[in-house]
Amino acid sequence: MRGQRTGRLAGFAVLVAVAASACAAPAPPGPPPAPTSGLNLPGFDRSVRPQDDLFRFTNGTWLRDTQVPPDLSEYGSFSMLSQRAQADQRTLIEQASNDTGETGDAAESTPRKIGDLYASFMDTARLDQLGAAPLRPYFAAVDRLSSPADVVRYLGDIQHFDGSNPIGLSVSQDSKDATRYVTEVSQSGLTLPDRDYYLSVDPKMATIRDQYRAYLAKMLTLAAQPDPGGTAARILDLETELARSHWTNVRKRDAVASYNKMSVADASKGTGIDWASYLAAAGVNQPDLVVSQPSYFTALGKLLTTTQLDTWKQYLRWQLISADAPYLSSDFVDTRFDFVGKVLSGRQQNRERWRRAVTAVNTSMGEALGQLYVGKFFTPQAKQRADELVHNILNAYRNSIDQLDWMSPPTKAAARDKLAKLDVKIGYPNRWKDFSSLTIDRGDLIGNMDRAARLEHQRALDKLGKPVDRDEWHMTPQTVNAYYNPSMNEIVFPAAILQPPFFDAAADMAANYGAIGGVIGHEISHGFDDQGRHYDGDGNLRDWMAPADAAAFTAKTRALAAQYGAYSPLPGTHVNGELTMGENIADLSGLTVSHRAYQASLGGTPAPVLDGFTGEQRFFLGFGQIWRTKERDESLRSSLLTDPHSPGEFRANGVVPNVDAFYQAFNVQPGDKLYKAPKDRIHIW
Ligand SMILES: [Zn+2]
Repeated sequence: MRGQRTGRLAGFAVLVAVAASACAAPAPPGPPPAPTSGLNLPGFDRSVRPQDDLFRFTNGTWLRDTQVPPDLSEYGSFSMLSQRAQADQRTLIEQASNDTGETGDAAESTPRKIGDLYASFMDTARLDQLGAAPLRPYFAAVDRLSSPADVVRYLGDIQHFDGSNPIGLSVSQDSKDATRYVTEVSQSGLTLPDRDYYLSVDPKMATIRDQYRAYLAKMLTLAAQPDPGGTAARILDLETELARSHWTNVRKRDAVASYNKMSVADASKGTGIDWASYLAAAGVNQPDLVVSQPSYFTALGKLLTTTQLDTWKQYLRWQLISADAPYLSSDFVDTRFDFVGKVLSGRQQNRERWRRAVTAVNTSMGEALGQLYVGKFFTPQAKQRADELVHNILNAYRNSIDQLDWMSPPTKAAARDKLAKLDVKIGYPNRWKDFSSLTIDRGDLIGNMDRAARLEHQRALDKLGKPVDRDEWHMTPQTVNAYYNPSMNEIVFPAAILQPPFFDAAADMAANYGAIGGVIGHEISHGFDDQGRHYDGDGNLRDWMAPADAAAFTAKTRALAAQYGAYSPLPGTHVNGELTMGENIADLSGLTVSHRAYQASLGGTPAPVLDGFTGEQRFFLGFGQIWRTKERDESLRSSLLTDPHSPGEFRANGVVPNVDAFYQAFNVQPGDKLYKAPKDRIHIW
């Protein structure tokens, strides 16, 4: 989720993740073993007091002894699990390569397609021989453009993989009528991670822009484009103009401001873009569309006519080069890594080729691979345990609403209604996506990626005019992450996050409630965060909070924004309290509610002391250790601008000063660094 472009699935908040290797086999019969604490004690730093710094108490030794691997920009609980999940997937893919299909016709076997796609990525000898040749047919389509109207049609038609388009097109549920799908367009088209990279006067950003221009020129040279230096400057100028009209990430989060449904004719009038022509080229036949950032599209409409056609064509060729570079010969791959990997994220070496191949399979056939993954690595027992945990936390949430002192009875009733309608998905989809129409050719990597992207595009278009598909998943089961989708009012937990250190079915439940319990509570809380609260239980954008309740809620969230805004992860930087608001609310609410669920689960029986810690203490330590992470400065700088999540340290240390139970668990007193006076503690749910 870091560094991702405007998603096709815009509109729902997503948590951070975890993931690991195989689930444990069922225990043999016999007396149950004494439970373990589920804590990773060797990573703790006992020279730090948890009352002063929970993050370093639970992670300090690990932080001191761990280097971020040279091929990664960040390393921690989530990425360790992802790394292991990748290795598991590689094994599955290699087995799939030999699949002969149920009918004996290997060409019809989806596992075989996975294996062939992987093989097409791994065949570097062939890719090096091809050089820039796979780009040629795509360039030819750009060469034929002879007017701004042609460019608009091209943008509709191209739907290439990996975001190479200033118009992001998606099909999503209509925010004001969640029973139907609607077409949505949103800002996109930048190569650098955020508008600030183009516009900031910070000298570091100015240096990155110089490096970007040099990178552009080098890539254009590799692709045999004329006048690489001059072209690079013109492309950077055009992207800078696009960036100027991009909404900030804070403004983009605004669910109400981003919902602008209008007729296609009105959208064209308002933005100067011929949307009928664009949509026809994209294969969409609908009377209306949602324009997420109208002012951006008005600016784009002007740029389409005021910028030279030739510059647009150079930009469009560049977007193809940029998107396709990871799938071309090694000179493209290496040049791209020197900028995108080193300059933008601080990585020292590229990930091993097989890991990138696994990523390519995930991009193109992720759910097909997921079907193999859960067959091998997810047990019905794990699904059942997670299901119980979710329902305990939902019960605690219901009780929390009853006890809120700042919410009026009618708003409480609406909140209870929303909670009652919340849907829960655990592990993997009930129904899998079909890949039978996808053609995979072992000798045509770019073609494979392109056909897979077009299949997904068609899958999205096919939803228009049909009933909403409540079985659809927006993450694959092998993803170490979870999400809340406000239009569906659902929480979703892929199989890969249901593993240690998030969830250890064999361990005592205290740390589990602090870890996966906090994650589950987090996702439920997104339904009630500063944006999620605008949606009702049926997924419609409709304010159900009475004005006085909304005002009380906003006062609390302002205090939270001020608290996080004071954190400075790097000299001269701050956490953006507005950008991270929804995630910080979800972290705080989620842990608070999970703690109540933990207490209820004990049923009045005192928890044992394990590894020298009480149950109450292990709850918070389990929470602290899931935020174990180290991030390179370059990557952190980008995350602070683009990632709606606070850095791990502040996800741990920012939440607990507001949770009364933390004070009791560790006897936190005035003078301790995590102490807040009772009147200053922020209690939301
Ligand atoms: Zn989240």
